[in-house]
Order: sequence, then structure tokens, then C-alpha cells
Amino acid sequence: MQSYDAIILGAGAAGLMAAATAGQRGRRVLVVDHADAPGKKILISGGGRCNFTNIGTMPDRFLSANPHFAKSALGRYTPGDFLELVEAHGIAWHEKTLGQLFCDGSARQIVAMLLDECDRAGRSGGVVDIALGLAIDSVTHDGTVFRVTRGGTTATAPSLIVATGGPSIPKMGATGLAYDLARQFGLKVVEPRPALVPLTLGGEETLFRSLSGVASEVVARADRIRFREAALFTHRGLSGPAILQLSSYWRHGEAIGIDFVPDCAPDWLIAAKRSAPRTSPRRALAQHLPDRLAETLAERLALPVELGAATDKALAAAQARLADWPFHPNGSEGYAKAEVTVGGVSTAGLSSRTMEAKSVPGLYFVGEAVDVTGWLGGYNFQWAWASGRAAGDAV
Ligand SMILES: Cc1cc2nc3c(=O)[nH]c(=O)nc-3n(C[C@H](O)[C@H](O)[C@H](O)COP(=O)(O)OP(=O)(O)OC[C@H]3O[C@@H](n4cnc5c(N)ncnc54)[C@H](O)[C@@H]3O)c2cc1C
Repeated sequence: MQSYDAIILGAGAAGLMAAATAGQRGRRVLVVDHADAPGKKILISGGGRCNFTNIGTMPDRFLSANPHFAKSALGRYTPGDFLELVEAHGIAWHEKTLGQLFCDGSARQIVAMLLDECDRAGRSGGVVDIALGLAIDSVTHDGTVFRVTRGGTTATAPSLIVATGGPSIPKMGATGLAYDLARQFGLKVVEPRPALVPLTLGGEETLFRSLSGVASEVVARADRIRFREAALFTHRGLSGPAILQLSSYWRHGEAIGIDFVPDCAPDWLIAAKRSAPRTSPRRALAQHLPDRLAETLAERLALPVELGAATDKALAAAQARLADWPFHPNGSEGYAKAEVTVGGVSTAGLSSRTMEAKSVPGLYFVGEAVDVTGWLGGYNFQWAWASGRAAGDAV
């Protein structure tokens, strides 16, 4: 039997941050993961360059049943704090767009940095042991210590930090263990669903699949939420950053609207008719959109061959449709393709300062396992760092 001050389940972003933090405070920590290597999602993140934070991090960039919950941890561990760590490790970085910070080199540098920070625990009398490659058989609590059994060995500790993420990308070893443990200890789970995920089109909208590979800058809307970024047609439906962002808010059965001409004046098509009446609708659209998209949309608008032959009323209707083209996704590509999971362990049962379960002293949930989900663009890692730090500071 091995005994520690804290056992951390999950050697991902939040778990490694919690381990390094607790270890450097002199705690003896065991990190347990069934994967054969730590930080696997970090390695594939940001196209291999890890979009490790977003300098525009604000609580309104996160979805949660309690939009105030994330404020405390995010306020105490900021993108600037993580950037300081990145720079202290000599990792070169750049801002790509919209405040998104990436490694110049490779996401491997972030994992190496976190492991190095875990090693530094030794300097303050702490220890971080990382045990990989074994499934967790059971987790129990006798009122004083937590007991984690895997592969025939048992470790105990008065604190347990659950950092096993959400079920997105199961082929990388993602599981719903955090939700099972939350329920085992009497905590509620906000219904999880795949997020930052491509949406699929069916019915008569399958014709848009022929545009697979075509991308365009749009404003995508679901209810009152809007994202201005690129949308991409795929062989199954819609993707690209604008759609991925929207997918976190989208619910089955809801329509979404796409403004294909966000930079055009409200009467642009009528103005085009006045200045070039012999122009075809397709050519008029192609001045603002990729050719294949212009062709498909023009066909669907069924306007006369030349703009001059269309009434202003018909052109006004076409303008309105192009500015809020309705799509009716019939689903999403699910957990297999979702970058994150919306929902998770309910924040109602957790302390926003420490991530500790209010009803089970010593039990903590951090990272994606919790019902806090960031937008695309480095926000999810910032939440993993901040919540991991909060728990690591508390155990
Ligand atoms: C393709 C992709 C790209 C992404 N890119 C970015 C990006 O650039 N920027 C960004 O901010 N976010 C990105 N994300 C999201 C980000 O990776 C996650 O939000 C983040 O990793 C969550 O951290 P976490 O520590 O909570 O969980 P994870 O990093 O998922 O770590 C959980 C750990 O727990 C382990 N585990 C799970 N179940 C069990 C079990 N039953 N037993 C034992 N161990 C278990 C896993 O093996 C894993 O090591 C991306 C996600 C994906 C899938």
C-alpha cells in the first residue's frame, strides 16, 4: 500500500498542473492515468502546436449552468501567469488570431514543461509520481482517506483530485470516469454533450455536401449567439471555427442561420442590379463568395438569369436570405470528433475557490470534467490550468 498526500486521476492538462502545484508546495502526489503517456490531448492540440491560452480570457467565453463559477479560479491564475511559465521554460510562442497563443515549435514543449514542473517538486520536499498504463479498478473513501486500486496495487491519500476530462475523443482514451465518480460520491452531473464539433446535414440540405472543402468567412448564428469566423462545408455537413463555436450552443432540432455576406451593405444586390443589370446572380455573388458556393446559393435563390430582370422585392428577399441562410443540422459528428464536452460535474456541488466537493471534503474535480466549457481558441486549456492550480493550491 502506497500512501500520499494527494492522488490525482488523469495526467492531462489539469491533472499535471494540479500535480506540479501541489508538489511544489511540498506535497507527496501520485498521478494515475490509464494512457501510456501523459498529456496526449495536449500533444494533438492546436494542430500539434497547442493553442495553450487566450489573452482575451473572460468569464463570458465559457459555458456553464453557473456562468459565475469559473471567475474565481480564472481570476487567480491568468493567461499572463501561464505565459510567464512558458517563457521561463524558453518556449517560443506567437499570437495567431483573436488572442490565441500557440507554440512556435511543438505541443511537446508544453508537456515537457509540465513534467519538468512536476520534477521540481523535489526542491521543496515534495514528490510527484506518475503511474501510467493501468486501468483504475476502484476508488473508495472510508471517511478519512481515498483508496485507489489499479492493477492489484492500492494507493491511499486524504485528497483525491479527479482530472480525467470528458468523454470527447474516446479513441484517445477519454472516458466518463469523472461523471461516474461524481455520482458515486453523490454529486450531480449536468447532462454532457459533444461540443466544438462539426454539424451534419441531411434531407434536402445534403446537396450542400457537394461543396465539401469550400470555406468562407461568415457570421454563424444560433438563437442570439453569433460567431464571425470561417465556415467550412464538409462531406457530412458544416465545420470550420464559426460552426465549431456555434455547436457548443446548438441543441438538437434547432435551426442555425448563416450570414454569407457579412461585409455587404443591406441593399447590395439591388445596388448591383442598378450598376450592372446584365450581371447574373451567380456572378454578383461570386464577387463576395467562393465560386462553387456562389453557384450553389444562386441556384437555390432561383432568381432570373440577369439581375436586371429581377424585381427589387425579389432581390430584397434574396439579400435577406443570404444574410441569414437557415440550416437545419440533423446532428453532430459526436464525441468521436468533438474537441470538448459541454456539461459535466455540476458546479453547484463544488467550491469555486478550490474545486473541492462541498459534501465530500478532500474530493476535487478539475478541468474539462467540470461543467465549465470554453470557446474554441485556447480557453479550455486556460480553464484546465486555472482549475488545476486552484485544487493543487488547496490539497
Ligand atoms: C483534437 C483536439 C484539439 C484541441 N485543441 C485545443 C487547443 O488548441 N486549445 C485548447 O484550449 N483546448 C484544446 N482542446 C481541448 C483540450 O485538449 C481539453 O479541454 C483539455 O485537454 C482538458 O484538460 P483535462 O486535463 O481536463 O483533460 P484531458 O487533457 O483530456 O486529460 C484527461 C486525462 O485523464 C485520463 N483518463 C481519462 N479517463 C480515464 C480513466 N478511466 N482512467 C484513467 N485515466 C483516465 C486520460 O488518459 C487523460 O490523460 C483540444 C481537444 C482536442 C480533442
